[in-house]
Amino acid sequence: MATQISTGTSELRDITKMERIGAHSHIRGLGLDDRLEPRANSQGMVGQAKARKAAGMILKLVQEGRIAGRAMLFAGPPSTGKTAIALGMAQSLGPDVPFTMIAASEVFSLSMSKTEALTQAFRRSIGVRIKEETEIIEGEVVELQIDRSLTGATKTGKLTVKTTDMETIYDLGTKMIDALAKEKVTAGDVIAIDKTSGKVSKLGRSFARSRDYDAMGADTKFVQCPEGEIQKRKEVVHTVSLHEIDVINSRTQGFLALFAGDTGEIKPELRNQINTKVAEWREEGKAEIIPGVLFIDEVHMLDIECFSFLNRALENELAPLVIMASNRGMARVRGTKIRSPHGLPVDLLDRVLIVSTKPYTAEDIVEIIKIRCDEEDVKLTAGALTVLTSMAEQTTLRYALNLISTSQMLARKRKSDLVDVEDLRRSYAYFMDEKRSVEWIKAQQSTLIF
Ligand code: ATP
Repeated sequence: MATQISTGTSELRDITKMERIGAHSHIRGLGLDDRLEPRANSQGMVGQAKARKAAGMILKLVQEGRIAGRAMLFAGPPSTGKTAIALGMAQSLGPDVPFTMIAASEVFSLSMSKTEALTQAFRRSIGVRIKEETEIIEGEVVELQIDRSLTGATKTGKLTVKTTDMETIYDLGTKMIDALAKEKVTAGDVIAIDKTSGKVSKLGRSFARSRDYDAMGADTKFVQCPEGEIQKRKEVVHTVSLHEIDVINSRTQGFLALFAGDTGEIKPELRNQINTKVAEWREEGKAEIIPGVLFIDEVHMLDIECFSFLNRALENELAPLVIMASNRGMARVRGTKIRSPHGLPVDLLDRVLIVSTKPYTAEDIVEIIKIRCDEEDVKLTAGALTVLTSMAEQTTLRYALNLISTSQMLARKRKSDLVDVEDLRRSYAYFMDEKRSVEWIKAQQSTLIF
């Protein structure tokens, strides 16, 4: 196993990006301009300007690879966009950068130890971009590189052959080497090779742009620019996470466990072997590490052992950026009697960058409701928009956004495409928000089982 570490298959690439939550489907980025200034309403994002800008700055550090040992905490009341901003960061990072999202309580519910669950989350958030060579498949349009040492010529550049036929590719490549050796062409030249006679003629550089090579007749192929040994193999690049490599190489699990989501515990010795192998690949230039992002929602639900683990894990060279979110003020650190801001121990708090999110203004809420209505294909009357906005102010934004689809169902029942105040009122009566639910429970003390 030590020498034969597999990197898995390309089908696994999307796994790290699978967690997409419907409630945030309108979020397509952080909505910042090139100077990282937040646009008023962009990429599904509205308001929360300071927090978005701070997130953008941290994102820049991630992109520059300067994030080792860093962590940030979004702290703010419920429904103020902590998860939305974290997802906006993920969207801005692009498909190649792993983004893992867990709720802290998941760590306790999985069939493995807390630290194993956190280790897996960490390793899911580290990407390994692997370069591999594969055979060129017939039918591909390829770039041929001709090694200068073969020709003795001093030209540089690339040879692009616009054909899909393998034989022609090799044939043209050979003729290209001949032409280079005779110093007939220089980098950037566009040449035509007669397929039957092999005669090379030089064309104007603008030729490739001005005419299609097919126009030259069936026996002539057009080739642009010199250099390179004919490479019968091409380089492909794919990205997998360290966790995927762990699971694929775990004898007890196998890669299908990735799809089942039940990977069990992975032996530390295996992880060490994989770390060593990945380090070798890096030295040989075959692999590159892409530190990603681990988002831990409701982080105050972790306990002191988990926090100690986080503190240590952040020191590791292979640590992702850890983004935490909490809607708690002063809270007890679980597993201790100590009360601390956001329920996090002070030594961890000390190393995190804290970004606060604030309750939304009515104007921001109106915009967010409109975006969600577009996303869900729902039309509100002007009156309904005003009522839903004030509901969001009095309850939470999330509760109000949830009422959009339920009210649409009620509107459809009365055969209307427009959601009106009455539909919202009925939805509000059917579904309780948190405050009313608590009041109801208090009123039912004697009948409920606790
Ligand atoms: P909690 O503390 O309860 O987990 P949160 O701060 O993580 O809440 P979100 O879940 O991000 O809040 O926000 C609630 C809803 O409002 C989501 O549907 C989210 O996509 C949307 N939302 C929040 N902030 C914004 C924003 N600035 N722009 C657009 N949509 C937003």
